[in-house]
Amino acid sequence: MRIDLHSHSTASDGTDSPTELMTKAAQAGLDVVAITDHDGTDGWAEAVGARPDGLTVVLGAEISCTYQDVLGERTNLHLLAYLLDATHPALVAQWQLLRESRSVRARRVVDRLAADGYPISWADVEAVADGAPIGRPHLGRVLVDAGVVPDVGAAFRDLLSVRQPYYLPKIDMDVFAAIRLVVDAGGVAVFAHPLARRRGPVVGDDVVAAMARAGLVGIEVRHPDHGPDERAHAARLAADLGLVVTGSSDYHGTNKTVQLGECTTEPTAYEQLFDRSTALRPVGD
Ligand code: AMP
Ligand code: ZN
Ligand code: FE
Ligand code: FE
Repeated sequence: MRIDLHSHSTASDGTDSPTELMTKAAQAGLDVVAITDHDGTDGWAEAVGARPDGLTVVLGAEISCTYQDVLGERTNLHLLAYLLDATHPALVAQWQLLRESRSVRARRVVDRLAADGYPISWADVEAVADGAPIGRPHLGRVLVDAGVVPDVGAAFRDLLSVRQPYYLPKIDMDVFAAIRLVVDAGGVAVFAHPLARRRGPVVGDDVVAAMARAGLVGIEVRHPDHGPDERAHAARLAADLGLVVTGSSDYHGTNKTVQLGECTTEPTAYEQLFDRSTALRPVGD
């Protein structure tokens, strides 16, 4: 069984439509794929409709969260939420807010870049995003199309990095509130790429322990942004805190170089995770 529990489509900042994502998952030899677009579930219906025979689809989303320490210092982190009731009113309201925040933020970033002479416009970004919640990979594509950078990865290393003046925060959700919301919506919460340091600061072990107490079920250990040390560290945390270990590619189509199935989840972990969902079941299981 080959199981990849984290991928993005054009319903957020991936480059494959949900239909293409399903086809490619089957071609990559996956038995199970999760569609986990950022802050929304707009790709779900198309993914289910396009599911090839023999492929199981886990419906999910990746929620942009923030942890605020006692001094008010914020750290961004991502939560994977699987098999949750997407019509939960508090969830819908939160995603609406986040979508708006993403849009206003991206517009400001474009203004700043354009003011500094980069030949890009808001219309370019809207065309690339095509209605999806706008993320930095969309800005990256526009920068590539304008000839500013060779690829989206280069944009992330330079202009779009959190360490640049072109980085702006968005209204991310408090991570503990998000975990409670996922649980309340009948879903299963997994901490995505907890130690992906090259993206920016990460939270300490004490925060992961507090997340586990709040209802976190699993932790992504095998992820392209985790090296051997991060994998060992995350695996230790999982053992200490009784969290289910997952592995996934975080595929984004051509916005990233990683391929579907590059990191995978063990079948036993898959069973443990989704025994707990109360709202939905994997489709095709
Ligand atoms: P945002 O949520 O708008 O701040 O953008 C973060 C998104 O960019 C996440 O989905 C990441 O997976 C994606 N991302 C992070 N690093 C890279 C990279 N090097 N190349 C392409 N996408 C990236
Ligand atoms: Zn993304
Ligand atoms: Fe993420
Ligand atoms: Fe992701």
